[in-house]
Amino acid sequence: MTPATGAAQSCATGLVCHRCGVDLPLTDVEAFCPECGKCLDIAYDYERAKQSLREWPLDDRPANIWRLAELLPITGEDAKARVGRFSGFTPLIQADRLGAELGLGNLYVKDDSTSRPSLSYKDRVVSTAVARLLELGDEEIGCVSTGNVGTAVASIAAKAGVTPFVFYPNRLEPAKAKACRALGARVCQVAGNYDEANRECRKLAQESGLQFANITLRPFYAEGAKTMAFEIVEQLGWRAPDHIVSATAGGTLSSRLHKGLIELETVGLARTSEAKMHIAQPAGCSPIASAIEAGDEEIHPCSPETVAHSLAIGTPGDGYLVIDAVRSRGGTATSVSDEEIFAGIDLLAATEGILTEPAGGTTVAVLRKLAEAGKIDRDATVVAIITGNGYKTLDDHPEKPWPSMVECDVDAMMSVLDEFRSAAAAEKLPL
Ligand SMILES: [Zn+2]
Repeated sequence: MTPATGAAQSCATGLVCHRCGVDLPLTDVEAFCPECGKCLDIAYDYERAKQSLREWPLDDRPANIWRLAELLPITGEDAKARVGRFSGFTPLIQADRLGAELGLGNLYVKDDSTSRPSLSYKDRVVSTAVARLLELGDEEIGCVSTGNVGTAVASIAAKAGVTPFVFYPNRLEPAKAKACRALGARVCQVAGNYDEANRECRKLAQESGLQFANITLRPFYAEGAKTMAFEIVEQLGWRAPDHIVSATAGGTLSSRLHKGLIELETVGLARTSEAKMHIAQPAGCSPIASAIEAGDEEIHPCSPETVAHSLAIGTPGDGYLVIDAVRSRGGTATSVSDEEIFAGIDLLAATEGILTEPAGGTTVAVLRKLAEAGKIDRDATVVAIITGNGYKTLDDHPEKPWPSMVECDVDAMMSVLDEFRSAAAAEKLPL
């Protein structure tokens, strides 16, 4: 059937629970399974998606998050026009200098630190959540955030003309809260960690009727993360990488990368079953990695203590899906110390000129460990995902020695330049 609007349409069919098989119509506003409490997922008619992909050539479609509209849950053209048109399609950068340092000959960085509008991968998930909100006709949106969701909600809500309310836990990088306020969001910081704030926001959503991007709209929110898998495979020429390395907190990104890869194969766009999924967590908050390492099926919640505030989720809602993604793809789960995380940030900066936040440092630190342990072949195609921007987190970054001010005089400046040259020569990476 040819859509009347002249564009590819969503092939979503309903809401489903992977844990106990419950399914509900797409029009239902439930986010969590009424039987087991797990987050509901979106189901699709993949045969219809295949047919639509034949009818509507990809070359004619815009390079934004709505490119594979068949595999996203948003049906409203007006919602898609108001949200996400300029999000997605971040660069996939050939990271030859980082690769040389790690002994990897075919390494890429998927750089969502440049995502627009708010410089993190959360622009993808918040876009699909806000589009859903617009379909429902609501004019207010809330979120509970470790930092980046808040800035994404503030930005995307402003452009969509809805009112944002952001609830932050007791610890996050100050620049993220400042950015939210500068963008016009109402910001409430609560005296608890993310898991505690999330628990109370679920109650608040029920009592207030306020839609929360990452609670009440969660099935739609999570689907936005698949767009990263779609883009990586397309940017590699419709080839899946051999390895994907990504930090994980609540588990949304890793689990939906897995789902997105499966869907690409299901609709015939690429062979993706060989791609291995590796997850990275900070040692101070590694409930998913710990479960995988121990061979457990269930996640044991932890109390986070890490510099990677955007990864400080001790009760990951989609953790069980990540366990399945890593195991079924033959990947690994690794945790790294705060020192290793900062070293990862520095290495990415020094080799690729990308300043990432501690979540990205966690990914690079784990990539380094995997490469050093020989778990990734030199010739394998590897994609490391950088989810957030380090310009937002400099307050927590260990300061490098700052030279004292010198006279505004060429001789004084020349002596400093000589010192800089000596130090730079000693530190230069052998590439
Ligand atoms: Zn269920």
